[in-house]
Amino acid sequence: MKPKTYKLRIGGEWVDASSGNSFVSVNPANPGQQLGRFQKASKEDVRKAIYAAESAFDRWSGTPAPKRGLILLRAAQIMRREKERLSRLMTMEMGKVLPEARGDVQEAIDMLEYMAGEGRRLFGYTTTSELKEKFAMCVRMPVGVFGLITPWNFPMAIPAWKLAPALVCGNTVVFKPASDTPLCAYELVGILEKAGLPKGVVNLVTGEGGVAGAEIVKNKRIGGISFTGSRDVGEFVMKNAGLKKVGLELGGKNGIIVMDDADLKLALEGVVWGAYGTTGQRCTAASRIIVHEKIREKFEPMLVKAVKALRLGNGLNKTTDVGPLINRKAVEKTHMYTRIGLKEGAKLLCGGKIPKMKGFFYEPTLFTDVNIKMRIAQEEIFGPSVAIIYVSSLDEAIEVMNSVRYGLSSAIYTNDVDNAFRAIERIEAGLTYINSSTIGSEVHLPFGGVKDTGSAREGGIVGIDEFSEMKTVYIDYSGRLQKAQIDKKIK
Ligand code: NAP
Repeated sequence: MKPKTYKLRIGGEWVDASSGNSFVSVNPANPGQQLGRFQKASKEDVRKAIYAAESAFDRWSGTPAPKRGLILLRAAQIMRREKERLSRLMTMEMGKVLPEARGDVQEAIDMLEYMAGEGRRLFGYTTTSELKEKFAMCVRMPVGVFGLITPWNFPMAIPAWKLAPALVCGNTVVFKPASDTPLCAYELVGILEKAGLPKGVVNLVTGEGGVAGAEIVKNKRIGGISFTGSRDVGEFVMKNAGLKKVGLELGGKNGIIVMDDADLKLALEGVVWGAYGTTGQRCTAASRIIVHEKIREKFEPMLVKAVKALRLGNGLNKTTDVGPLINRKAVEKTHMYTRIGLKEGAKLLCGGKIPKMKGFFYEPTLFTDVNIKMRIAQEEIFGPSVAIIYVSSLDEAIEVMNSVRYGLSSAIYTNDVDNAFRAIERIEAGLTYINSSTIGSEVHLPFGGVKDTGSAREGGIVGIDEFSEMKTVYIDYSGRLQKAQIDKKIK
């Protein structure tokens, strides 16, 4: 059957790409199933979208913030009603198993609800002045037109983490979703419009990152960019965005430390969930398991048994534990790292093969005897491929944890409170979990990384900083010219 054609959404109108080019979105569990045909926006189309966002800016930024928040709340309510349909659609387009797709939709709902409340806060602050009869405060201002560029691995949650704060702060938006999951983006934007978002406030441009995305990055009329994706494209954004406000959420090489005093059953569950959940395609996925050598004999067989028991399949099937990878390139990349690992001398405990299934599947893969010099211990694979690294102390475990260029998520399983606090203090990461896996962020807390993961902090109150500017206001009611620093007399 011919798939439905979706157009660009610019200024509240459905328009064809001026290039006349399009692409299809397919089901990674069944690539023969085409879910929709989407437009490849040209640079000119992106410029039109920017113009539409500029035209909508005065009205939207002039709308009282609580009213902006109310639209987000209504969108959350619509999403709640449509949660099951949206989740199934997400599993079909992105591949993650249905319970995880429900979690993704729920995360978008949570973020919309949380940011709806921000409409009645958007706190600035007041403070003292060093001069008499002078009042000082900070108020929040929108940035202007925001460019949002998102990946495919959380096709509704990540766009919602950006759209909701950007909109409540009064910005208008040009949104470029990943080419692997445009349908999920359409659904989300459609829901915002159904909830009452005025025309032109969010403009949706699908198409190639190197064309549509790059134009958003480079165009000087865009005031801010919020980008989530790979390190390489993040670097491109940083180099080409000029003087815009830029927020980057990039890759990870996250680790879980399992100490010899840990509850091993609990650690096993956390490791399997963190490593193979979402087929290892979470930015917070655990791809390095840093284990105390004293528990090797006990923990390694437990882990191998659990990984071998994982069932691959279509995410819509109740029996599936691990769904497909996003596309063929991801399968090839994961397999390339299997070959690299073997060549480097790591020992394959299980997996390592492309199964004979029609979708983009890869066997859950586990390497042992990995050391920090190996590429499989350093580079982001973004698939179900995990390396066990043995250590002899907490100090060594933390050294291994910090040996990578990234710094997103981390975890430690230990029953020793001193170990836990030392890990909190010394691990270089934006997130550290104690006795819990590397994944599971909540919308009211900051999320982001350090080092090459980028330094954006989305979510929570600090997430508002990413999408607003602080204006400092001085009100002098003394009736005379007072000079800060100069008129200050300390006796
Ligand atoms: P990606 O290849 O960097 O793509 C991300 C987005 O950037 C897509 O919309 C892509 O468009 C677009 N893009 C590509 N080239 C561009 C360019 N030159 N200029 C502007 N935009 C461009 O990443 P991905 O494969 O979608 O996602 C996986 C990566 O995201 C992993 O590294 C993962 O760790 C990271 N991630 C990080 C976080 C976090 O919070 N830190 C969360 C999730 C994922 P096309 O799809 O059209 O190419």
